[in-house]
Amino acid sequence: MPHKLVIIGSGPAGWTAAIYAARAQLDPVVYIGVPKQTPSIVLPGGQLMLTTEVENYPGFPHGVTGPEMMSMFQQQAERFGTKVISADITNCDFTKRPFKLTTDDGNGKAETIEAHSVIIATGAVANWIGLENEMRLARQGGGVSACAVCDGALPSFRNQPLAVVGGGDTALEEATYLTKFGSMVYIIHRRDSLRASKVMQQRFLEKPNAKVLWNKVVVDVLGQDFIEGITLEDTATKERSRLDVRGLFVAIGHTPATGFLKNTALKFDDKGYIDLEHRHSATNIEGVFAAGDVADAEYRQAITAAGMGCQAALDAERWLGRMGLA
Ligand code: NAP
Repeated sequence: MPHKLVIIGSGPAGWTAAIYAARAQLDPVVYIGVPKQTPSIVLPGGQLMLTTEVENYPGFPHGVTGPEMMSMFQQQAERFGTKVISADITNCDFTKRPFKLTTDDGNGKAETIEAHSVIIATGAVANWIGLENEMRLARQGGGVSACAVCDGALPSFRNQPLAVVGGGDTALEEATYLTKFGSMVYIIHRRDSLRASKVMQQRFLEKPNAKVLWNKVVVDVLGQDFIEGITLEDTATKERSRLDVRGLFVAIGHTPATGFLKNTALKFDDKGYIDLEHRHSATNIEGVFAAGDVADAEYRQAITAAGMGCQAALDAERWLGRMGLA
């Protein structure tokens, strides 16, 4: 028997979709993925698994860690009967219904399952520079992060010198945000001009504790338990120097997790994110819905992803009802 609804992904969007779908008696099955490093760390639970304290999700007045929050989301989904499977979906055949999905449990065991409807909630993966010490400190909460809005207000960053890597709008936005906390905020950019919009540049540069270091790349991150500094290399002279910082924020773009969809006719936008029908979760393929960061290049917050997960479950429920499959 095909599943009524398969949800791929286990971040805020996937779990919220599961909570709504389970309560609507759609018997959802969530494929939570298997842990991997590509070199970005990808864990069941998504990017929040790499976040220490979440302070901006309503309902947690004293904050909550990302992993704790995802565990609570999962428990809530399971309470209503959601089935949880620890496997990746590696391929989708959306050419006819019921859809056929290929699973992989990470130990070489592959299976084909069938689903009347699918919600894709696989998120996006922050791009990292790819340095060994960068990844190690990011994993252990050692002051290296890919999200200043998530982590920047933590006490460990207050009145400390901080660095942001990147020259786009995200880097400038994150750096401007960090000027509220850091004693000095450096933007490390690999070229001699910023990609970010003029207004974002100005907003950062007018702060007294803001500085851009041009033509520099980070070649090492220093510190055992917590970051103590970074090694920079000048792109022109190749000269190396040390910069003492107590926080490193990598803002060099995100990549939506859509590799397993490459054989489908799904429509993507010009940045590679799943293209949605206006304000809905429906994609160009009937019965396939998307929610969260995999379909959102703009907001990328836990709360917006959860909202999109709710929309996707409601859209899937209505669609299954119309098709007589609910
Ligand atoms: P982005 O525009 O692609 O910029 C990425 C930046 O990272 C670029 O400056 C790039 O350098 C640098 N970079 C890439 N790979 C690197 C590497 N390996 N090492 C060092 N630097 C590297 O990404 P984004 O800033 O995340 O923005 C994504 C989209 O969201 C954009 O369309 C942006 O306008 C939008 N956005 C808008 C707002 C807003 O309006 N409030 C806020 C955030 C984002 P180069 O410049 O040399 O390529």
